[in-house]
Amino acid sequence: MSEDKTLHICTPLLESVPMSKKTGFKVFLKCENLQPTGSFKIRGMGHMCQKAMKKGGNHVITSSVGNAGISLAYAAKQLGITATIVIPEVTSESVANNMRELNANVIRHGKVWDHANAYAIQFAKEKEGSIYVHPVDDPGIWEGYATIIKEVKDQVQQKPDVVLICVGAGGLLCGVIEGLHSVGWTDVPVIAMETRGADSYNQAVHAGKLVTLPGITSLAKCLGALTVCQKSLDWGKLHPIHSVVVEDKQAIQACLSFLDNHRMLVQVACGATLAGIYEDIIPKLQKDGKLKENIESAVVIVCGGAAITLQALLDYKNIVGIE
Ligand SMILES: *Cc1c(COP(=O)(O)O)cnc(C)c1O
Repeated sequence: MSEDKTLHICTPLLESVPMSKKTGFKVFLKCENLQPTGSFKIRGMGHMCQKAMKKGGNHVITSSVGNAGISLAYAAKQLGITATIVIPEVTSESVANNMRELNANVIRHGKVWDHANAYAIQFAKEKEGSIYVHPVDDPGIWEGYATIIKEVKDQVQQKPDVVLICVGAGGLLCGVIEGLHSVGWTDVPVIAMETRGADSYNQAVHAGKLVTLPGITSLAKCLGALTVCQKSLDWGKLHPIHSVVVEDKQAIQACLSFLDNHRMLVQVACGATLAGIYEDIIPKLQKDGKLKENIESAVVIVCGGAAITLQALLDYKNIVGIE
């Protein structure tokens, strides 16, 4: 594989007929779930691995709850270099196996992502010739994610009135906003969705500074960063961002509705984004005067996620008590 060919694909932008019908404006789905790794993470990790190779690295190391690791493993395999991924306790054995199937070395360390990440940094220092890749807080990651919006710009006929995403540690948020600025869409508001119990961005926005959660209680494991990156908070001063928290139940219901509407299975994190449409978040923000009255179209970043099965979604459905 040549060093410059991107490892991600240009994903389709599809209008959701059921969602457009529900909201009264056009809802477009940017289908990152269709990436070869099942999530947008390949855009960041692919770019970072190519950069690491150019610097002469032959071993890339990251920390991940799931998707960043799967994408790093995929990218490293395509490029013919070694990958090591530090995963926390919350990561399932089947996700660890997905990484191993892509030839990655997997190390389990710490309760949540933040702990695994601290270990990955240490581990990389001790391994000569290795390059640590931060899965969130690196301009190279944001540059990779910014390509989502560059593609959207070529795929739409008119500028969207709002973009919906979800926030884990804030890398996607930083990349999407960077993308909006790079195409001149500096006034397009972003709705940043989280689930309660993984709401480190919302709490930081309210506190006006980074907040470290004592633990993660949400089922949306890949939104479970105890602390978001500083840059995601800083963007709030330069870009209209509306932080919204939904319950796990709403995110899981959104996954179920999306499966029925579009026959696509996505992680609960992605359900949080979809809940922005299914739970009528846009009309609420309009009522509060936070979004303009006349909305003609919205773009939903369907972040996807490979760490979900039908059985897991049905189990979650039971846990949160959906009939
Ligand atoms: C990583 C990930 C997120 C969160 O992204 P951040 O950059 O950590 O904010 C959301 N959804 C999915 C499917 C992910 O893999």
